[in-house]
Amino acid sequence: MSWTDLAANGRILIVDDAMENIQILHHVLGDEHDVLFALDGVKALELARNQRPDLILLDAVMPGMDGFEVCAALRASAELSSIPVIFVTALSNPEDETRALEAGAMDFISKPFNVAVVKARVRTQLTLKRQADAMRELSLTDSLTGVSNRRSFSDTLDSEWRSCMRAGTPLSLVLIDIDHFKLYNDSYGHQAGDSCLQQVAAAMQRCAQRPHDMLARYGGEEFALLLPQVDASGAETVARRLLEEVATLALPHRNSPTSDHVTISMGVVCMQPGADNTSAQLVRAADTLLYEAKESGRNRYRIASYG
Ligand code: GH3
Ligand code: MG
Ligand code: MG
Repeated sequence: MSWTDLAANGRILIVDDAMENIQILHHVLGDEHDVLFALDGVKALELARNQRPDLILLDAVMPGMDGFEVCAALRASAELSSIPVIFVTALSNPEDETRALEAGAMDFISKPFNVAVVKARVRTQLTLKRQADAMRELSLTDSLTGVSNRRSFSDTLDSEWRSCMRAGTPLSLVLIDIDHFKLYNDSYGHQAGDSCLQQVAAAMQRCAQRPHDMLARYGGEEFALLLPQVDASGAETVARRLLEEVATLALPHRNSPTSDHVTISMGVVCMQPGADNTSAQLVRAADTLLYEAKESGRNRYRIASYG
């Protein structure tokens, strides 16, 4: 793929309280890109979260939440802050432009606009966004929590599996899921949810200090802790410590049916890698045990050992 292709066929969210402005921009951009639209700021944030556009064209002056507030909310969200914003607005003095750029906008287009200029600036932002995405894709750490990402976990799982098989040593895996985390977001907001994820990850990292231990963000509010050369009793000790460390954080969770505080559930598996099993079986077994830990009351682990 060439860098020019990176600018084609983006998903663009147009936010404007006037339908006719949306129609004009749709007319300009609709041939080349997928266009979504929102008529107010709240709806814009909801669409951004659910549809993950590549670019947002944002009107500054809207009733309710204005464009500057929308832009600030996007920048404050770990998962949405990488979506570039172009202000498209009738405001045209340098103060407004400065304010938009300070709120985190990448560019500023004054109405009435020139069609060719809008197209060109959209292409530029799409290219930059996709280059940044490609860089992130190559990285090994999760940007929110700083622990390893899933891609790097998969690579390490494969190599540790083979190395434990050669050495005849066991390999343990702990799959961890935060309990009632959707309720946590619903109770305290998404930003508090992000901060909770960061604190839980840091607490768990304190339990994984050996050189080969690897903590990874496996997905949303799910983590994986790989423990090479650790047997079942060692893995159980670590699981107990994980429960304790997260309990010690004492993060309030007022609507959790499980506890007043944030808790985790875990599936713990120890396997002896060999010719007749696979790393995929290790992950599946841990996943099944995690499910059992959830079903039997959460804030606990289930453990099994094979081979
Ligand atoms: P359970 O105890 O059964 O695990 O319930 P749960 O609510 O934790 O599980 P569910 O899978 O229903 O919800 C997971 C929630 O995690 C939903 C999703 O919005 C939230 N989540 C996933 N990734 C992130 C993130 O990066 N930040 C925030 N704040 N929330 C996230
Ligand atoms: Mg959960
Ligand atoms: Mg989950």
